[in-house]
Amino acid sequence: MYDLIVIGGGPAGTSAAITAVRDGARVLLLERGRFPRHKVCGEFVSSESLDLLAALLDGARAALLHDAVRIPQARLFLDGRVLETVIQPPAASIARLNLDAALWDSAASAGVDARQQTAVRSISGSGPFRLATSAGDLEARAVINASGRWSNLNAAENGTRREKWLGLKAHFAEASPTSSVDLYFFDGGYCGVQPVEVEGGRSESRVNACAMVRAEVASTLAEALAQHPELRERSRHWRPLSEPVSTSPLIFRDPQSERDGVLMAGDAAGFVDPFVGDGISLALRSGTLAARCLLRFLRSEFSLHEAAQDYRKSYEQQLAPVFRASSKIRRTLVLPRVLRTPLLFLLENTPAITQYLMSKTR
Ligand SMILES: Cc1cc2nc3c(=O)[nH]c(=O)nc-3n(C[C@H](O)[C@H](O)[C@H](O)COP(=O)(O)OP(=O)(O)OC[C@H]3O[C@@H](n4cnc5c(N)ncnc54)[C@H](O)[C@@H]3O)c2cc1C
Repeated sequence: MYDLIVIGGGPAGTSAAITAVRDGARVLLLERGRFPRHKVCGEFVSSESLDLLAALLDGARAALLHDAVRIPQARLFLDGRVLETVIQPPAASIARLNLDAALWDSAASAGVDARQQTAVRSISGSGPFRLATSAGDLEARAVINASGRWSNLNAAENGTRREKWLGLKAHFAEASPTSSVDLYFFDGGYCGVQPVEVEGGRSESRVNACAMVRAEVASTLAEALAQHPELRERSRHWRPLSEPVSTSPLIFRDPQSERDGVLMAGDAAGFVDPFVGDGISLALRSGTLAARCLLRFLRSEFSLHEAAQDYRKSYEQQLAPVFRASSKIRRTLVLPRVLRTPLLFLLENTPAITQYLMSKTR
């Protein structure tokens, strides 16, 4: 019987596992895939969670954060305009290839029983819990579901939606990229481009290009890059440095932080619009928060029900507002052009409003 089983070895699962094991809990972390691996992601890590990330990584992996490319500026390319805004303090650009592996290794070295290639098939019970996995049945007093936004465990929530969005990503060689996250918006999607480095990679400078597009607009990254005139021109001289990766459909729904006594963290709780670049931060923060709430149950200060309630309340206060703000902004950016143009004019001429909107997505 484990104190805690965490399902999913991404930023949410590893942060939960590290937090709990450091407090003395007996923690099992299960991941169906293997690290390192590329993942569809803009790889923009917002400054709000850099201290938390530094605290989670063990000393041997600290250089990943220390040496990361910094992103002090964002540029929005939309309707022939360029909207620039300062990112203060600067964000970090960290390849998921390295970030997820570093968090996984930090969990293992902190004492978590961390098992890859072990898929959870189902969860039963209401505390203690029994998990049916590809490696047999396992039991725990508490469970955190951090299995991401597209897992067999969250299938009922994903359901069938009318809009189908895809995520596509690859790394390319580009001479002297600007230190900014450049977001190219077009009808039916957008593509983010920013400089990134890969540990042990070639010395030439590279960019990550990551697009979110409607399925009827593009099904490959090359098609997505061709949707925006300035991006098409910029990418003409790029040379691929990684194979393109794509995701299953992206579904937006209201966040849900708990289900049948199981705490939900990261994308499993809710998927935030990727263009705000806050998914990793929310995953780290919700994973840590979920573990902290459960620790009070594991120390017998709370019942499981009280711990779940505490998490639900904290999630609603601290994290849910980000979802509401970012979906409002996304809806504005996809407004018909006639309504969007005056808004863009306002933003272009009033940087304080852009800064305010950015702060609402943090
Ligand atoms: C197009 C796009 C661009 C994005 N860009 C950014 C960005 O620039 N910045 C940012 O902060 N965020 C970005 N995001 C969001 C970010 O990638 C996610 O929010 C983040 O990965 C969430 O972390 P997580 O740990 O919740 O989930 P994940 O990282 O998805 O981890 C979940 C893990 O659970 C495992 N798993 C699933 N099912 C099971 C099972 N049954 N048993 C065991 N293991 C299982 C999976 O293999 C996976 O490793 C982007 C997302 C998309 C789609």
